[in-house]
Amino acid sequence: MQNSEKILVINSGSSSLKLTLYSIGSKQRLATGFVERIGTDAANMIYSRNGETKIEKTVEAKNHAIALDLVTQYLIDPEIGVIKSLDEINAIGHRVLHGGEIFKTATLIDTDVITQLRYLVPLGPLHMPANIGGVEACKKIFPDAQNVAVFDTAFHQSMPAYASRYAIPNEYYEKYGIRKFGFHGTSHHFVTLAASEFMGRAPEELKLVTCHLGNGSSLAAVKYGKVYDTTMGLTPLDGVVMGTRSGNIDPAVVLTLVRQGMTADEIDNMLNKQSGLFGVGGIDSGDMRDIVSNAAAGVATAKLALDMWAHRIVFYIGGYSSLIGGADAIVFTGGIGENSWQAREKVLSRLESIGCIMDEKANSTRRGPCYVSTPDSPVAVIIMPTDEELMIAKQTSEVVSAYRASIRKEEAERDFVI
Ligand code: ADP
Repeated sequence: MQNSEKILVINSGSSSLKLTLYSIGSKQRLATGFVERIGTDAANMIYSRNGETKIEKTVEAKNHAIALDLVTQYLIDPEIGVIKSLDEINAIGHRVLHGGEIFKTATLIDTDVITQLRYLVPLGPLHMPANIGGVEACKKIFPDAQNVAVFDTAFHQSMPAYASRYAIPNEYYEKYGIRKFGFHGTSHHFVTLAASEFMGRAPEELKLVTCHLGNGSSLAAVKYGKVYDTTMGLTPLDGVVMGTRSGNIDPAVVLTLVRQGMTADEIDNMLNKQSGLFGVGGIDSGDMRDIVSNAAAGVATAKLALDMWAHRIVFYIGGYSSLIGGADAIVFTGGIGENSWQAREKVLSRLESIGCIMDEKANSTRRGPCYVSTPDSPVAVIIMPTDEELMIAKQTSEVVSAYRASIRKEEAERDFVI
């Protein structure tokens, strides 16, 4: 793939669509477009060029194809656009929630792959139809471009069965595919590579615990470049305490609530949208900034939420470190992991027993990429900003380059035979 080549990255949610155009050689983000409230007649659209907002307005976007069409027109606008023609875009990377057990790496999308993605809809009933819709919309607007699916689950496919299976009867795995998949794979993968580069070592020789801490949060034990275990499960509800999600709970809590008369949808809503920092903090916010400031001001429920959040993360970092035979580094990323020194301090102040010696000043003042452990700390602690979209662009570029090389090889072999 040529260095000047443009890669479009699409993140298509149930009612939103985010688009980012990269110049792959310079890793430069040329433009972004975001449309939310798709399906209503008052969708909100933002278009930015080189990080500067150029257009923000209410639009009528009945579906994802219309939303995509609207934003792409700005990409070629003579005044505020960044390319002359949509033909300049030959490769499109799609963020896809679930690859099930079928997809272990990023994959070129053809009709068979679309069929397989449809088969996976039950594993992600909210996200998968939107992800497929994004691919179909691109096929209409960019009929000659190659589409590549980059899966949130793929990086975690290296987990051994004893980490990924639940100890329930085998038939539930065999019949319904119920097992741990893990999510945020693109981010865990990105920071694994970036932290290794930062440490001047190859990922294949490092043992890391990567902590993606945002509204949605997950940790991964990454041994020699491959995921060994991760905190999210069949769905992104499992694991640590999140902005509005409970993380792991005794499964019998659900049964108890069913017996109290709650429906599956009500429990789903409570665990996904009303729980976590929001549900415990008692301040009508699941935003870590509000939790930290209220905890500091003495609000007991906010302090409890923060303590629960840190407790669970310390538990997993210690456990994962032990599972991979001792970590070389703990890597923090995501909105909280990168920005909230108070939240990080809560965790790091309890990790000396596994060899993490926090540099308090560095932790409270530095911004990533950086070390926040002392130079003599046996285990390094690193803040590494994530960039999931850049990772999708890079993987798309690799898949399309490999595809083009295989076509060239086939053509050369055919010419030779003739
Ligand atoms: P999402 O999972 O929605 O992508 P993000 O990674 O954007 O979430 O993280 C959102 C979280 O990051 C919020 O809890 C927010 O409080 C926290 N956060 C973002 N910026 C800062 C900041 N400058 N200081 C402290 N916390 C921050």
